[in-house]
Amino acid sequence: MANFDDTLQRARLAFASGKTRNVNFRRKQLENLLRCYEENENDIISALEADLRRPKQESLIVETEFMKNDIKHILYHLSDWVKAEKPSKSIINVMDDVQIYNDPFGVVLVIGAWNYPLQLLLVPVASAIAAGNCVVIKPSEIAGNCAKFIAEVIPKYLDNDCYPVVCGGPSETAELLKQRFDYIFYTGSTRVGKIIHAAANKHLTPTTLELGGKSPCYIDKSVELRTAVKRILWGKLINCGQTCIAPDYILCSKEMQDKFVAEAKDVLKEWYGENIQSSPDLSRVINTNNFQRLIGLMKSGRVAVGGKYDASERYIEPTILVDVKPNDPIMEEEIFGPILPIYNVESAYDAIKFINARESPLVLYIFTSETEVQNLFVNGTQSGGMCVNDTIMHYAVDVLPFGGVGMSGMGSYHGKYGFDTFTHKKSCLGKDLSAVGEKLASARYPPYSDRKGSF
Ligand code: NAD
Repeated sequence: MANFDDTLQRARLAFASGKTRNVNFRRKQLENLLRCYEENENDIISALEADLRRPKQESLIVETEFMKNDIKHILYHLSDWVKAEKPSKSIINVMDDVQIYNDPFGVVLVIGAWNYPLQLLLVPVASAIAAGNCVVIKPSEIAGNCAKFIAEVIPKYLDNDCYPVVCGGPSETAELLKQRFDYIFYTGSTRVGKIIHAAANKHLTPTTLELGGKSPCYIDKSVELRTAVKRILWGKLINCGQTCIAPDYILCSKEMQDKFVAEAKDVLKEWYGENIQSSPDLSRVINTNNFQRLIGLMKSGRVAVGGKYDASERYIEPTILVDVKPNDPIMEEEIFGPILPIYNVESAYDAIKFINARESPLVLYIFTSETEVQNLFVNGTQSGGMCVNDTIMHYAVDVLPFGGVGMSGMGSYHGKYGFDTFTHKKSCLGKDLSAVGEKLASARYPPYSDRKGSF
């Protein structure tokens, strides 16, 4: 069994040396990471292809370009973000110095998931570096080729004491979690999120949990349907549906369902041709366990589109299911594959009732051109985030916090929110020592009497 004492000891000593507090050092490490993405783009794309049969274009959009833009954004803003904040003061503190210092937590642990094996790990790592922490980097073992890339290549670009990579599955991670970290950032399932939270609790370690769940997608009759269908199917099918913010299921009227199904058939033909399996533009299911799980879920309701599969390639045709019931397995667990059930509701009110009877989703999608309908969902539901008239794209807006609520997670990141996640806001009051200052402050001293008033 792996022993992580040495790794942690080296990281602790590195943090104690103060080198990650130096903003130029952080900047240099981030520049190195950016160079790593640029110099190894082809190897990254190959690793993703080997793990997920991910098309190159998708890997560029959702991993390498995303990670590069994230670092560029951090580098552009870093000198502002690290500055101590000077909040506006009340009259009582007019002569004092009131500041909030942006302090790193210390040695933090970042644990990634397999579905976007690079960016889900390395974007929070970049935020943690920017905030001045040492970071233990733990890739998901399930995307084995990407984990190998991270273990072999990242250490060539980053300081090895401050930013060690550790590999392994559940038992190694359990061992790692016995160590005391100053912050834990976890991305993965809600089930494992609870294990991580319990382990963190032992040391009262603060955590961010980026979890999953079922993200609903409501469509009303006011939308331009062809555009809505394309945006929903794209969000469902990138990475073969293995996306935490994929629209999980659709809520719409029976009439809208029929139109949606007809448009979807047409769009799928336009994107993937007559023989979808031979298209190079659709990823595959990550492993046999998930493939079998998804085939089981396809037994719910009735197949309206697709329905074919091939175990030898872990291929599942983009599939739309209708006539599903609320307690069918497909409506109870996160799908995480290219299967899209439609559940019929009569109105936005019905949809809200359906959503509120379930756990709070990571994201709520609505397609409508009516502001009133949008407001009904904004004020009537809880979710990590919302995206109106599109899917997935909110993830790429670096001024929006990304994270869940309730069972879909706690905490958030991206851009400045990522920096703040890995930063302890250390408040500091610097009192004025002058005679005037002391006179103003003296009301607090005994003997207490009404005459002295309050301070
Ligand atoms: P996974 O199996 O790769 O697990 C995630 C991490 O947890 C891995 O590093 C793994 O080694 C570790 N792990 C697994 N079992 C463990 C255990 N028993 N103890 C300690 N560590 C353990 O990924 P997954 O959990 O299958 O990921 C899919 C889930 O993640 C989905 O529910 C998805 O919605 C969610 N997800 C959420 C986000 C988000 O940003 N909110 C992003 C991607 C995925």
